[in-house]
Amino acid sequence: MSTVTVAGRCVIFSAPSGSGKTTIIHYLMRRHPEFRLSFSVSATSRLPRGSERNGVDYFFLSPEEFRQKIALGELLEWEEVYPGRFYGTLRSPVERQLSLGGNVVFDVDVKGGLNIKRHFADRALSVFIQPPSVDELRRRLTARATDDERQILQRLAKAEYEMSFAPQFDKIIVNDNLSEAVESATGLLSRFLLGV
Ligand code: ADP
Ligand code: 5GP
Repeated sequence: MSTVTVAGRCVIFSAPSGSGKTTIIHYLMRRHPEFRLSFSVSATSRLPRGSERNGVDYFFLSPEEFRQKIALGELLEWEEVYPGRFYGTLRSPVERQLSLGGNVVFDVDVKGGLNIKRHFADRALSVFIQPPSVDELRRRLTARATDDERQILQRLAKAEYEMSFAPQFDKIIVNDNLSEAVESATGLLSRFLLGV
């Protein structure tokens, strides 16, 4: 009797803050159940914003709890994405999902995205969501109204640097027109996850 190995795949979305990663991931998860995506809920030491819920959008931890997870080796990767604010991917839920044959979608910063890609290699597709310009990012972050002025400036200050990582990703999607961007993302995932 042959043994069938069931193992899911990883889809990684990275981009400067405000590029539209969350919007695109929510669309894919809601509209494409055939992709069998589960979201990798990261840990973070930042506070919840807007309607974010603990355990759904992030696991919100104190800096001390976050350090403990690092020390215990519970994070697959972690980064200090903004000064004093830590974000990291929890190892065990990801491994559990993949071993059950589910596919996992990640919303992580550029360095985390490239580290996850390196870890899972051919089992992962890394996608960079490129904003049309930094001015447009500013407009989107201001319109989103979830960060104060200081945080928006901090995010914009990092955007050019983050954009320099784009060529290292498997695919780049420019998110200017949202419906075109979700169509491109749908096409990429159909090929990578379903082979169609
Ligand atoms: P990220 O997760 O990358 O930080 P979001 O998905 O939260 O970005 O998007 C930032 C803001 O920009 C949100 O208010 C979202 O509704 C809006 N947005 C996303 N894509 C577009 C687009 N193509 N055109 C205009 N606004 C957009
Ligand atoms: P935000 O505060 O806007 O939710 O996220 C800020 C940045 O942290 C985004 O670029 C987001 O993708 C990234 N991020 C979220 N979770 C993780 C994670 O687990 N690891 C890494 N490296 N970055 C993350």
